[in-house]
Amino acid sequence: MEHDKTRLLVDLQLLDNELFNVLSEQRGLPEEIHNLKEQATAYADILKARKKRLDESEVQKRLLTSEIKASQEKIKKYKDAQTSARNNKEYDALSKQIEFEELEIKKAESKIKSIDDERQHQLELEAAGKALLEENNDSDITDEMLPTEYLKQRIIAIESEIEEKSRMLNSIIQNTQSQINALKEKIRAQRNLLSSIDRQVLSKYDTLRSGGIQNVVVKFDRNACSGCNSRVPASKHAVIFRGGFYLCEFCGRIVVHADFFKEEAAPARFNP
Ligand SMILES: [Zn+2]
Repeated sequence: MEHDKTRLLVDLQLLDNELFNVLSEQRGLPEEIHNLKEQATAYADILKARKKRLDESEVQKRLLTSEIKASQEKIKKYKDAQTSARNNKEYDALSKQIEFEELEIKKAESKIKSIDDERQHQLELEAAGKALLEENNDSDITDEMLPTEYLKQRIIAIESEIEEKSRMLNSIIQNTQSQINALKEKIRAQRNLLSSIDRQVLSKYDTLRSGGIQNVVVKFDRNACSGCNSRVPASKHAVIFRGGFYLCEFCGRIVVHADFFKEEAAPARFNP
């Protein structure tokens, strides 16, 4: 019978709606957890980059310091040699060497100073960031301004938030899993039934749903498809009133008599 098929379609739609609603109880949480993880990773990346820069500058400073020490030792050696220089030429040559090493020391010292300045600049940025955070004015804060201590605390806070939300999600999954399984089983049975009667309309239903349309089976309302509000041709009204369905020419939805969506008593009207 035509209305049996329509009944199956409507019930399938209602079961899918129910499953969607049950799943949506947890829907927000996986996204929230995902976003929190991204935030924590972004903060950790800032800290990592900062630490890398600091480590590199420490290594460079140690290197420069040992270069200075080496130059100083050379100068001492050259000065000692000057006291026993045999002639002016030898003495002047050593003076040149000393000058060269002194210049090397100056260059190294200036590099160390610019490393220290950069470090100082970073600390100042973080202090300015800290002040802005204390004023609750974080719109002008750049990543570099986020104080290291603040970042570490935020990461810890975010991680505990992730833990809490994961616990919530797990308990929702546990509480709803049997409901979800039961619904999926009902849907499977419903689909098998429908498929044995009209495989084509089922595939029509699936195509629309996979295209992002949740409500595929819709009410015939004020002579129109309630999915897209397009008018249903008068020639198709009879089929709908008999309990059949009409495929909307505009949106492709399956339009059925509104009585099918009434609780319980729905099929009575169309039953012989
Ligand atoms: Zn339509």
